[in-house]
Amino acid sequence: MKYISTRGNYEGVSAAEAIRLGMVPEGGLFVPETVPAFSRDEIYQMNELKYQEIAYQILEKFLTDYSQEELKEVIDAAYNENSFVDQDIAPVVKLDDNLYILELWHGPTAAFKDMALQILPHLLVKAINKSDSDKEVVILVATSGDTGKAALEGFKDVDGIKIIVFYPDDGVSKVQEAQMLTTEGDNTTVVSVKGNFDDCQSAVKEIFADKEFNNLINHNNYQFSSANSINWGRLVPQIIYYFSTYAYLLRDERISKGEKINISVPTGNFGNILAAYYASQMGLAVNKFICASNTNKVLTDFLNTGIYDINRDFHKTISPSMDILISSNLERFLFEMTGHDTDKINQWYKDLKETGKFEVDEATRKKIQGLFVGEWTTEEETKDIITEVFKEYDYTLDTHTAVGVDSYQKYVAETRDNTITIIDSTANPYKFSKSVLEALEGDVAEENEFKILKKLNEVTGLEIHRGLRGLEEKEIRHNRNCNTTAIKAEVKDILGI
Ligand SMILES: *Cc1c(COP(=O)(O)O)cnc(C)c1O
Repeated sequence: MKYISTRGNYEGVSAAEAIRLGMVPEGGLFVPETVPAFSRDEIYQMNELKYQEIAYQILEKFLTDYSQEELKEVIDAAYNENSFVDQDIAPVVKLDDNLYILELWHGPTAAFKDMALQILPHLLVKAINKSDSDKEVVILVATSGDTGKAALEGFKDVDGIKIIVFYPDDGVSKVQEAQMLTTEGDNTTVVSVKGNFDDCQSAVKEIFADKEFNNLINHNNYQFSSANSINWGRLVPQIIYYFSTYAYLLRDERISKGEKINISVPTGNFGNILAAYYASQMGLAVNKFICASNTNKVLTDFLNTGIYDINRDFHKTISPSMDILISSNLERFLFEMTGHDTDKINQWYKDLKETGKFEVDEATRKKIQGLFVGEWTTEEETKDIITEVFKEYDYTLDTHTAVGVDSYQKYVAETRDNTITIIDSTANPYKFSKSVLEALEGDVAEENEFKILKKLNEVTGLEIHRGLRGLEEKEIRHNRNCNTTAIKAEVKDILGI
């Protein structure tokens, strides 16, 4: 299968090449030329399969230039009893007859990013081996918290790859910082940056686009690549858990064959919900996609009006992994919704760059509205729903998942739709202990985040996620820091060039 550019500006490439390049060098994102499909029987038979076997069926359809052995190898390396403690890998938990939580945080770092970042490094190594390049790959990551640690865990000690993570020194929680600074592995570097996340992200993007600097590192036998969700290799593993969810619901006799489900996704970069859409294109029975946002509700407004407008205030919220105004993967979705109309995509993204907004045509808007609903949740509502769900079901939501549940409830109030609904749970509650504890107990005076973790444990009785246990006693292994203007020099220094 070939991968083409959403902007029609690049020749078709293999899956391995799309993964190695990360994004289209001329701008735009790689997408499959056609979306492969399963027969109904193939989908129904998945209820007898394990997660790893379902993973194989999906990856085989998209990554046609990887051999059977290669796929089995990468799947075993990514999804095993060491990396994911639950046998189902992504277990589905029942809240009530219509409402299920898809827990995507059983991986090493307690956030859903592990679902893709445990496998991406292995896919990338194979992709490098298939290319004729012998250069060592350097993964540059700018993170506001979750991606950094998940990428570090995925890439640590992977041969032929170095990873450098930049994070804003006052933009991540103490727990997130401790997770990153205690990372082991000879090929990992973590740098704290004096600045905010946008500064880090812009500096890293500039490095990717800096031809001269790329030439310099190429000369020193290095090449850059990316581990964020613009890379197709991060998106395709996310399709797997929508099929496994349907299979588990069938296996446990919660739904009947062919029954449609709703999927509610707390959304930031639009990667997770886009993977759900691809699953439906492949034959999964989906009724509605509920796109759940926090106060940064640029997507809610887009789904309601057809206008995508980032000319607005940016809010720092208690669901920080969704504090995003430019949702990169929306471009892939619009490519599908317009029937691969690259002229429209080019025009809209030119408008976005020049004016900070674009408006889709009426036909496209109506098509989108037939499938997707946009809802959003305030900070107060986020806390309220955490309390409500804890009281009613004795289940602890993290702040992001809470947005997914609240948005779902708003949707039900408006439509009375009683279709069985899956809420994607994107983080373990301990990852955002302070906000969760405040939701349950009111203001928290305690400053020490490790003590807050223990307090939350006392209140909820929920076991502390293994990736967050004993963090304060772990050895700090990284102590680099720099100014935003010095990020390039820092990269040079780390690579010794
Ligand atoms: C990354 C992240 C999200 C947003 O996912 P997208 O694929 O970017 O839409 C939501 N919740 C958590 C906890 C995350 O880490």
